[in-house]
Order: sequence, then C-alpha cells, then structure tokens
Amino acid sequence: MVHNYDDDCIFCKIIKGDVPSYTVYEDDDVKAFLDISQGTPGHTLVVPKTHVPDIYAYDADLAAAIFSKIPKIAKAVKDSNPEIKGLNILINNGKVAYQSVFHSHIHLVPRYTDHDDFGMTFKDNSSKYDEKAYTDIQNSIKSQF
Ligand code: AMP
Ligand code: ZN
Repeated sequence: MVHNYDDDCIFCKIIKGDVPSYTVYEDDDVKAFLDISQGTPGHTLVVPKTHVPDIYAYDADLAAAIFSKIPKIAKAVKDSNPEIKGLNILINNGKVAYQSVFHSHIHLVPRYTDHDDFGMTFKDNSSKYDEKAYTDIQNSIKSQF
C-alpha cells in the first residue's frame, strides 16, 4: 500500500508513532487503537495507514485492504471481554454526520446492554412516503452509477 500522510492530521501522527496510542492491532494496511473516549469499554478505531479523509476517497483496492480486516479485529474485540454482547460498527462521514477527525476511521463499539453509553436512533418516516417519493429517490441514486 502507498502511505500518504498529512502532517496536520492526528491519526497520521498516530500511524507514524509521533503521537502515542493504545494500539491493539496493526499490519501494513491498517492500525487499530483504542478510541480515547472509550464510549463503551473496548471502543476501538480502525484507520487506513494512508491519509484518506472519508469513505468517498476510497478506491476498490483500498476498500478491500481495509474492510477485509474488520471481521477479525471485530472478533478480537468481542472475544476480549465475555461481557460484550454485541458490537456496533460505524463510519461517520462529514461534520453533520458527527465526523470530527477527517482521516477516515471505522468505529467498533462494544455493546454490553441496551442502556449502555452508546445510542443510535433513526425515525421511521415510512408513513410520509408514497410510491413516487420512493422511486424518485431510488432513481436519483441509481443514476449516479
Ligand atoms: P468521529 O467523530 O467519527 O470523527 O470520531 C473521532 C474519534 O476519534 C472520537 O471518538 C475521538 O474520541 C477519537 N480520538 C480523537 N483523538 C484521538 C486520539 N489521539 N487517540 C484516540 N482517539 C482519538
Ligand atoms: Zn491522516
């Protein structure tokens, strides 16, 4: 993999070892380390070892290199603590979507109970949608390929 770094990026500094991290796994393509916030115990970030700001910057090779590592890292996190009952995996893209570090990263958030310190909600708005509303959106997305 080609490693491009951004000198002002905190995750690039972590990858280079210029800023410390609680690393749990690394190889030539990814580094996985504890999220400093520990939203729930074991909250881990997986980052590509090259500076890409968000999901839109991935090509197919980078996606294969990064996402193929997620299952084994997720399994290691889950197996690290018998209290872990589930795991949310998420990527925030854009400030409005809660992205605060603009070096793409994948959150692995262990879940212990349904009232632990992680939450995610989206409304069911289906009552506001008719056939045309669905197909208009469907077609606007399909036409991008
Ligand atoms: P996001 O809001 O999706 O961009 O997530 C960025 C995450 O990076 C947050 O959950 C922060 O807690 C985490 N974070 C920021 N700086 C560090 C750091 N130096 N070491 C570990 N995690 C960090
Ligand atoms: Zn970076």
